[in-house]
Amino acid sequence: MPSSTFPAVWTEQHRLHDPGGEVWVGVRIPGTEVVARGDLIRAALASAGFEIVPPTAHPASSLERVHEQAMVDYLRTAYEDWAAAGYPEEPGQDRVCPYIFPLPQAVADRPFRLPAAPSARAGVYTTDTTTLIGPGTYAAAAAAADCALTAAEMLRAGAPAVYAACRPPGHHAGRSFFGGSCYLNNAALAAQALRDGGTDRVAVIDLDAHHGNGTQDIFYDRADVLYGSVHVDPGAGWFPHFCGYADETGRGPGEGANCNRPVTPGCGDGPWLAAVDDLCAAAATHRAGALVVSLGVDGAAGDPESPLGISPDGFRRAAEALAGLDLPTVFVQEGGYDLDRLGGLVVGTLQAFAAVGGSR
Ligand SMILES: [Zn+2]
Repeated sequence: MPSSTFPAVWTEQHRLHDPGGEVWVGVRIPGTEVVARGDLIRAALASAGFEIVPPTAHPASSLERVHEQAMVDYLRTAYEDWAAAGYPEEPGQDRVCPYIFPLPQAVADRPFRLPAAPSARAGVYTTDTTTLIGPGTYAAAAAAADCALTAAEMLRAGAPAVYAACRPPGHHAGRSFFGGSCYLNNAALAAQALRDGGTDRVAVIDLDAHHGNGTQDIFYDRADVLYGSVHVDPGAGWFPHFCGYADETGRGPGEGANCNRPVTPGCGDGPWLAAVDDLCAAAATHRAGALVVSLGVDGAAGDPESPLGISPDGFRRAAEALAGLDLPTVFVQEGGYDLDRLGGLVVGTLQAFAAVGGSR
């Protein structure tokens, strides 16, 4: 194996998930989390000489280490119930899409009742209308989770670094909610698997352009898994809007183990890399024994989903900073939507990491 590569876990099952666009401000638009993403990443990995291995299948109980069982059950059956109720024919909605949400202030202090109508059940676990469920969504999301879990197992077996080519992405999926084109939290599953395998403290560093509200939710009360994220400032009007602020630092035993570094739209490499350095310092202070990187490359200049303007060299330098931690590392794919540059950005970042790791 050349020193500038490491194993990559990838599965063609990602193709089963065709979200069919998204509903944004009430309008069905094409969306950017498209099937082509997974295949473009694979092609880039192959041409750069990465060894590509398939994931091993895991039982649903593995998912329930970080997700509420009822949500996993819902995701598994949602499309079938939707189709059986006839919505694809009337009114003509061929994806599971919510129209009503049980906001806490509207349903607090009374027993929760699961709605009888599938159209209403569609709002119970999702945060938004942009995360549609199609016939193969659950199978693909479970396969993406398998990629992350397999990568964690390869790390435990001695690999210094492994990349999990997860699609759909995961960092907006929390313990009991999904959204933001994410269904199951692949990075959280990898971190939990490392904990379960005997690593006392794990750090998750999230480079995606958006705050990983799901990962934050899952580990917010815990001292054993540090979550650190650099992302576009939600206060400047960006998804996920309701969280990702610097004063969200964890709760109870987890106080101090959540580290948000929002950056301003258009910041470019300098402030973004300074935030990455901060997160690396936090991981070192946490005395992490393993690292999970939520590798979103949607911060890149030209990406349709963010205004950060990070250069390819910026991503390479971030990878070098991460490699400087000298930790066993799982990379988990998150966002990245510029189809012309996606494969090159991912592979360039991984190669930069491997080049530093290969010299140690
Ligand atoms: Zn993103």
